[in-house]
Amino acid sequence: MEIIEGVHRIEVPLQFMVMSVYLYLLEGDGGLTLVDCGPNLEVTYDSLSRCLANINRKFSDIDLIIITHYHADHYGYIGELKRLTNAETAMHRIGAGLAEGYRSNPEEYMDGVVQLATQHGMPREYTEIIKPLLGILRRVVSPARIDRRLEDGDEISIGSSRYLVIWTPGHSPDHICLYNPETKVLFSGDHLLQEITPHIGIDALKGINPLKGYLKSLRRIKEYDIAVAFPGHGPIIKDPQGRIDEILHHHDERMRLMSEAVTGSPKTAYEVSLKIWGEELPIFEKHLALAETVQHLELLVEEGRLQKILRNSIVYFKK
Ligand SMILES: [Zn+2]
Ligand SMILES: [Zn+2]
Repeated sequence: MEIIEGVHRIEVPLQFMVMSVYLYLLEGDGGLTLVDCGPNLEVTYDSLSRCLANINRKFSDIDLIIITHYHADHYGYIGELKRLTNAETAMHRIGAGLAEGYRSNPEEYMDGVVQLATQHGMPREYTEIIKPLLGILRRVVSPARIDRRLEDGDEISIGSSRYLVIWTPGHSPDHICLYNPETKVLFSGDHLLQEITPHIGIDALKGINPLKGYLKSLRRIKEYDIAVAFPGHGPIIKDPQGRIDEILHHHDERMRLMSEAVTGSPKTAYEVSLKIWGEELPIFEKHLALAETVQHLELLVEEGRLQKILRNSIVYFKK
């Protein structure tokens, strides 16, 4: 579907999740540029083929693929697509490094995630289930060499348009948005979504606090004059500034709720997540809820509003 002149929005249903991922095909003067490429599943090939056929173009007309971040639903098809198109591939320098992990150490990555969940109080019987679930995500990836490693502030020419690379770490450490100062269009990846609050992963919990990074990145894009944002999931964002404010407010609220949930004896992040989300969530959602809780509690510790203690290798939070 052509959403603005020369920009096509392609829906790829995700079989392993309830939602779809959206790719954007941009027509330049000659070749085509694709923003994100979907998971390595047949449905991605079908969706792309259909869009190309509609505009009388073929796979070999795609000469640039830009990836907003290394998650499987955005990056996964890149290897196959590179073979089909021979296009130049581009993503943030950090993402190119993280995507290498898909090839070299998938086990190590998953062990790390499971270890973190255990440390934060999630029972063993659950962490045992998460590992194979994460394995499914890994299977929908066919990696490729990244030709162009992007940095914040880089400019990319697509036909006569120029796009600015804005590094927005948080949802993932390598996340970038693409901004066109002329049309005021922002390709927001998973940084800004209309219907869901972007998830801040537990796997990114190394170095700086990802939630803190996310909020900073959100305030950063707020400074740009954005008329419309095209996200990786859900509807087009017609009031980006309003949506940014909503998400900022949501996190303020969450911080307050989490801080209130830590009362009496020290609590693990898992216990706090059950207080907020209840016991009934499916296992994978339980894990996502735990990840989000850890982020907020860690930020509360950083702000001096909570303390963190370690007992028998389990992390507890207290007032
Ligand atoms: Zn993502
Ligand atoms: Zn996504």
